[in-house]
Amino acid sequence: MECQLICTQCGKRYAFGEPRLRCDGCREPLEAIYGALRAEVKDQGSILRRFKAFYPFGEVSETMSLGEGATPLIPSSVLGRRWGIDALYFKDETQNPTWSFKDRGTFCGIQYAISLGYERIGTVSTGNMAASVAAYGAKAGLATFILVSAGIPAEKIKPIAVYGPHLIRVEGDYHELYDESLRAGDRHGIYFINSDAPFRVEGSKTIAFEICEQLHFQVPDYVIIPVSSGGNFRGILKGFEEFKSAGLINGIPKLIAVQAEGCAPIAEAFERRREKVRRVRNPKTIARAIENPYPPSGNQVLRKLKENGGLALTVSDEEILDAQNLMGQEGIFGQPAACAPLAATKRLISNGYLKPRDRIVLVITGAGLKVPSSLNHLDVPVISTSIGGLTEAIGKVIEGPC
Ligand SMILES: [Zn+2]
Repeated sequence: MECQLICTQCGKRYAFGEPRLRCDGCREPLEAIYGALRAEVKDQGSILRRFKAFYPFGEVSETMSLGEGATPLIPSSVLGRRWGIDALYFKDETQNPTWSFKDRGTFCGIQYAISLGYERIGTVSTGNMAASVAAYGAKAGLATFILVSAGIPAEKIKPIAVYGPHLIRVEGDYHELYDESLRAGDRHGIYFINSDAPFRVEGSKTIAFEICEQLHFQVPDYVIIPVSSGGNFRGILKGFEEFKSAGLINGIPKLIAVQAEGCAPIAEAFERRREKVRRVRNPKTIARAIENPYPPSGNQVLRKLKENGGLALTVSDEEILDAQNLMGQEGIFGQPAACAPLAATKRLISNGYLKPRDRIVLVITGAGLKVPSSLNHLDVPVISTSIGGLTEAIGKVIEGPC
């Protein structure tokens, strides 16, 4: 299929084979565009094979798959009823190979890199994306460069190092590292699958595709997404738009972008009706996975929110931790960033924005076990007993407090 890259702001076009992440004129992110899309979905294979009609790859290399995507859409059985919402769903991205949504974009980005003949890949990240790129780089047998900032503690590096990438600690400003990585990549033939690289964004489309399938092509009213760089948000929206243009669905859900109060460049710009994000000084939130002080796709998220009629808002760390506990009651353990959508949902129900008949999907982006320290505040209600007292202790629990 014919594919070009187009600047999301000025519309300048680049060839498919130009491995760019950003427009050389306005420095805004690029995205992939296609001609007419065929409404064709296959039953079997990896996400890229199943949705091949929406990708420009001639042949998908299935040997590079670790089983990404095809995550469940879990209907709420506790909170929806408690809050009077008929149709509340969790798109559980914690069930990906490296326990976050990033695996979809990494798998797609690697297909692109390989289609252009790259033998080296990389990324700038200290969290979910670093682990994902390191894992897929190992699986594909590619030299993999993971750039991390100098201050990162060993406990965060080890779950990345286990996949055997080249880990490079870089002193200096983390945001400048994004641009510098692209220069180093040009020089050394490394394709950097950074946060909003066009084919990482393309991978996120499959979240929307699967939601449509799982709801039998009845589009939800709202999809609520934690937003950091903006790449995943863009990909999910693009997925719905492409399914609509292929005639598979009739409408597009409203998208709600959720950020943490301590780092909310997109939500702040949205509330003040500004067209550009401003860099946040001294970001601080427990939801580190969405702590991006100057999101590279921030301006594009603002443009798309306006067009989509969606919303951006912030939630506090306290609300996020409360939501983490609430989600545990549904049997799902999300990392703090992944709980931001539930925190936002609770607020938007209480203020009347979300209504009982709305169909709402929350994207649970990453697993709770990645950030065990987020549970430090919990009081653990453990009952202690001797072996001889066990039967009686259980009996007391069943009878309940007198
Ligand atoms: Zn441009």
